[in-house]
Amino acid sequence: MAFYRPSWVPSLSDADIPDDIALSDFLFDDRFRPRKCEDSGQPFIDGVSGSGYSISETRQRIEWLAAGLASKLGIHDISGDVWQRVIGLFAVNNIHNPVLAWAVHRLNGVITPANIAFRASELAHQLKDSGARGLFVSPSGLKTTLEIAKLAGIPESNIFLIPVPGDAAAPETDPKRLLDVEDLVTAGRKLPPLPRTKWSKGQGRRQAAYLCYSSGTSGPPKGVMVSHHNIIANIIQMTLYESTFPSQSHPDVILGVLPQSHIYSIILTTHVPVFRGDTVVTMAKFELMSFIRAVNKFRMTLLYVVPPILISLIKQGALAQDETTFDLPSVKRIYCGAAPLSEELSSQIRKRYPSVLLGQGYGMTESATVISSHPKDVYDGSSGCIIPGLEIKIVDTDGNEVREPYKRGELFVKGPNVTLGYYKNEAATRDTFANGWLRTGDEVEIRLHPQTKDAHLFVVDRVKELIKVSGFQVAPAELEGHLLAHPMVADCAVIPVPDDKSGEVPKALVVLRKDANVDHSTAEQQLKDWVAQHKSKHKHLRGGVEFLPEVPKSPSGKILRRLLRDRERARLSER
Ligand code: AMP
Repeated sequence: MAFYRPSWVPSLSDADIPDDIALSDFLFDDRFRPRKCEDSGQPFIDGVSGSGYSISETRQRIEWLAAGLASKLGIHDISGDVWQRVIGLFAVNNIHNPVLAWAVHRLNGVITPANIAFRASELAHQLKDSGARGLFVSPSGLKTTLEIAKLAGIPESNIFLIPVPGDAAAPETDPKRLLDVEDLVTAGRKLPPLPRTKWSKGQGRRQAAYLCYSSGTSGPPKGVMVSHHNIIANIIQMTLYESTFPSQSHPDVILGVLPQSHIYSIILTTHVPVFRGDTVVTMAKFELMSFIRAVNKFRMTLLYVVPPILISLIKQGALAQDETTFDLPSVKRIYCGAAPLSEELSSQIRKRYPSVLLGQGYGMTESATVISSHPKDVYDGSSGCIIPGLEIKIVDTDGNEVREPYKRGELFVKGPNVTLGYYKNEAATRDTFANGWLRTGDEVEIRLHPQTKDAHLFVVDRVKELIKVSGFQVAPAELEGHLLAHPMVADCAVIPVPDDKSGEVPKALVVLRKDANVDHSTAEQQLKDWVAQHKSKHKHLRGGVEFLPEVPKSPSGKILRRLLRDRERARLSER
């Protein structure tokens, strides 16, 4: 048994993961499911209206939507290159998003979900890079979409509206000028169903289902090709892993507030629950009091969250006059991921909610998604144990493999959930996915649980460039490129600085051009505004701007990020 794997973790062979079936066919096939379709409730219900569809209605809608979509997009042949059928999704969370993705898969296409917080240039980058020929959009995303549709080469007739209760379009846009999801259903109903193609052995390994954007270990955001098999693998890995938990007599009711555009939600609050027969209550955005009300109204049992949600629960809870306001009597488990959950916050939550099992999971877009997940025994600060079917390698700074607990190194992983690489970017793919090993860019160490002696993964630092703000990715290279486009800036570097609420936030270190005739405080405000005007909120320079005579670089011209980050850390610890 490898030193990083507790003996109770079930083994999983690659042969146990079907690779000749499309994702949605696997999901709804009773041969694979732990709970039969007819014994399962509605997979998704809307957190505002309470409406949803049964599994049989969902399956029917996939067929109608696929046929309607093919006809409206003029797709006559669904064989051949899947990259000819990339469709974007730019929407708040809602009950339709997953079904639309499965409809796109039904026409052998690829769905590329974009963060609804994106500004025009960010959305345009993803749609152009992915070659999307159509787009689904919820009302609040319409203004941005219409601004860039031409630029991204998407005619208005290929943009379809997703009506979402409570999600309004900007007053100057007219949602009625677009066809919506129900128009596609109506059109599809009248058409013959799309032909069924028989999947060959191994097709699921090669065929992409999602194109999710991530900056990986360096550079700007890139399209991560997530195959049907990757997602099926992670569903099986997680279901097998959690089958070791004390058995539950009824299906879970799950909080669906994680952005459905992010891989964390695509796996854990979409595919895993649907496969298990649970119900996800979709919420378009996080607002503490409506979150508490929804958890209690729908008697949610399992909450998937990011650390800032737990921070606001503890902070606001401590301020509440009536302590019971923040009680969550139905909740059995809280699962936190996407960014580090500190030992301190973890123990505060456990004290406040003693009957809840609180655990952390760790993963990344490139590993679609989970790498480690909490077991039934809590260990504050741990990101859990390595899930079945995955091998890991920890490599120290001298390039030696670490083979024992309590020694740090960069984590590499290999297994069926490791994605296919970056779309149209062989260089980045070679760097990050060498010989089947995914380089995570995270520094980790294995520690043994004080009582059980189980091997747990602790993520202790990040060696890659990435900044994580409230669980959202911020790629320094993207912000640096944007800052360099400002006429005042001669050079710059963007680094993370710690933040109580968001975990970390970006800070810009800027060299001004010699002819920039401006004082530092004016320049700082102008650069903050420059970012705020063009980039989504989590990328704003909340860590401030510092002016330097030069940006330290290696002889080959690479920014010495570690040096800048360590200098910043040292300065903060002196305060
Ligand atoms: P993403 O691709 O957006 O999911 O980002 C993946 C990155 O988020 C990882 O490589 C880590 O740097 C960070 N991350 C995710 N989960 C955790 C966790 N539980 N603890 C620490 N960092 C995490």
